[in-house]
Amino acid sequence: MVQIRTKREIQLIAESCQIVADTLEMLSSEMVPGKSILELDQLAEEYIWSCNARPAFKGYQGFPSTLCVSVDDEVVHGIPNNRLLEEGQIVGVDCGAEKQGYFGDHARTFAIGEISQEKQQLMDVTRESLNRGIQSAKVGNHVSDIGYAIQSYVEPFGYSVVRELVGHGIGTQLHEDPQIPNYGDPGKGYRLQEGMCIAIEPMINLGAKEIVTDSDGWTIRTADGKSSAHFEHTITITSSDPVVLSKDSKSGKLIFS
Ligand code: MG
Ligand code: MG
Repeated sequence: MVQIRTKREIQLIAESCQIVADTLEMLSSEMVPGKSILELDQLAEEYIWSCNARPAFKGYQGFPSTLCVSVDDEVVHGIPNNRLLEEGQIVGVDCGAEKQGYFGDHARTFAIGEISQEKQQLMDVTRESLNRGIQSAKVGNHVSDIGYAIQSYVEPFGYSVVRELVGHGIGTQLHEDPQIPNYGDPGKGYRLQEGMCIAIEPMINLGAKEIVTDSDGWTIRTADGKSSAHFEHTITITSSDPVVLSKDSKSGKLIFS
């Protein structure tokens, strides 16, 4: 069931989102060659607890960590371990937090040192596809207009959209209705309404769309071994433009009056 949130609830979701955004902003200076992924996870967990919030992924369906860290051909859900970051990698970092019963969810893909032009373009196009998805999240549009905006932007570059994993509603649970696919024809599905809070999260592959799951049961990677990028924002739909909730505090605190 799709939830319409009150201003007070949106403020609480925004607080959790800002904690996650500040976590990733804090990590951005740590995304350098030689850094241990496990250390990134520990930094994130400590920061989230210091905000009187809880890492939302840790323990979620048995997931063991605060962050999902996904390197190069890993699409999403990589489990932090003692691997070290290496020059030339692109690394997706996905994070969730819960405070006072409300959730925030946000992901960025980072370049480690110098990366290839091919990977840079994949990252840039994926980030822009998220922007386009967000801009189409307006009252009166349908859920599939978001996916259409994303898919129609990325495919001319020769990239493909992962089908099996999608964005989602968010609020008092990490994942709520409706599902928000990153592909599809326009004008289909649930009609977007003021007060909905959703996470939009394109996962875009350099090569083919097919994915496989590692034997750890979590790590999703591209079947063809080519790179993948992932960006995610939690937003709320308003009577005018959508508002991105997962902005770090340098961007200014979000107040809904
Ligand atoms: Mg996420
Ligand atoms: Mg999400």
